[in-house]
Amino acid sequence: MPTIAKARTSWTATVKFTPGSYIKTRRTAQQLSLQYVAARIATHPHVPEHDRMAWLEAIEADQVPASIHTIDALRSVFRFDRSVLDSLAAIARGERDPIHTPRICRVCACSWRCPCTQAREECAWVEGQDLCTACQESAAPQSETEPMRGAVA
Ligand SMILES: [Zn+2]
Ligand SMILES: [Zn+2]
Repeated sequence: MPTIAKARTSWTATVKFTPGSYIKTRRTAQQLSLQYVAARIATHPHVPEHDRMAWLEAIEADQVPASIHTIDALRSVFRFDRSVLDSLAAIARGERDPIHTPRICRVCACSWRCPCTQAREECAWVEGQDLCTACQESAAPQSETEPMRGAVA
């Protein structure tokens, strides 16, 4: 099975991620609490002091856009793909066609530049789904959408 890096040009986009839900999914996939992240970014001078947890929640709910400084601060705490976040933000602003949504695992939000690694092996795409092999076993079967036939995995 090709790794997701090799299969980067294929996607199905069955989950509509937003910039906020992407950040939230990456955070929770790495099993980090809001509290933990808020405490870690406290050392970054550009991140607002006041009530960081509520403010992070607002970012994850797409109520507040994440600034470049915030994105840098968050990236020092957990792994996500900045180009995916930029793409999702451009789509949210209506500056990019949603058809160009990057392929993102619907469970852990990994992507080709930011794959999961298990036992030093990178994950791969489950054929025809926005799902990576690292999440395959824990994921509920995709009931509402039939896997696309003939999709390149
Ligand atoms: Zn995954
Ligand atoms: Zn993965």
